[in-house]
Amino acid sequence: MILLGPEDSGKSTLADFFARALLCTGDQPPCGRCGSCVRAQTGNHPDLHVLTPAKEGAFRVADAEALQKILSVRPYEGGRRVLILPNAHRMTEEAQNKLLKILEEPPSDTYIFLLATTLAPFLPTVLSRCVQIKMDRMEEEGILAYLKERFPDADSGRLGHAAAYAQGWPLRAASLMEDAQYWEDRSRWLDLAAEALTVRGKMELFRYFQKRRDELIRALDVWELLFRDAAVAGGNVKAIHADRQDTVRRLRENLKPDEVLRLWQATQEARAALAQNASCPMTLDAWLAAWPE
Ligand SMILES: [Zn+2]
Repeated sequence: MILLGPEDSGKSTLADFFARALLCTGDQPPCGRCGSCVRAQTGNHPDLHVLTPAKEGAFRVADAEALQKILSVRPYEGGRRVLILPNAHRMTEEAQNKLLKILEEPPSDTYIFLLATTLAPFLPTVLSRCVQIKMDRMEEEGILAYLKERFPDADSGRLGHAAAYAQGWPLRAASLMEDAQYWEDRSRWLDLAAEALTVRGKMELFRYFQKRRDELIRALDVWELLFRDAAVAGGNVKAIHADRQDTVRRLRENLKPDEVLRLWQATQEARAALAQNASCPMTLDAWLAAWPE
């Protein structure tokens, strides 16, 4: 079975759930109480294998052989057996051919989960032998409810921002909540953008980002949402930087609506330019030129 979805879309959580359900010996699998569930939860189940490549990166022939070796002996507990392969899309073609042999004649009671962010690298013969499950995005409200339960003491503005920013992926929202660096960076980027209303602020922003390409790419994502918030402010649309209404308002009060739209567009253009290897100072120059004098 192939579980398909981007990073943090919950593929391993789902595979883990399937594994526990398949191995459970209780009444309502996964019961969470039987010996099998407890061993699976603590990573000690002898028939649950999470296979990571022996060497960094791609899953190679040697790894496929290790997989064959696991399957050559009977399950320890005599029942089912579950194998999970994270990053299966990075499997070499040779390894896929080895895997194919296994998929053609799968040992009984064996379940193999391939976790992948894309189907492109897979051989058609492998794909044709796998059931595919695509991870679905979740409504923002659902994510927000999940975050509130998981982070009961967190600031509601932050929860709202994480839910909106995660674009449908609840685990991405959760890891954003835990990412202290992100909140610190975002705060700095929003402050720098708000100061770009002045000449001095523009110079400061240029100085800060001219040699920080990777950081600029991430900041552009945050700014795009900032201009989006400023453009829709006052309407019924919920702000994404809901916890930074002060900054949104400041832009709104100092920029005309067409200027906000121009900046929104310039932000998208800057990101596209960087993706095509434009230089950081040149991209910043063009972006800052979209601001009113
Ligand atoms: Zn159980």
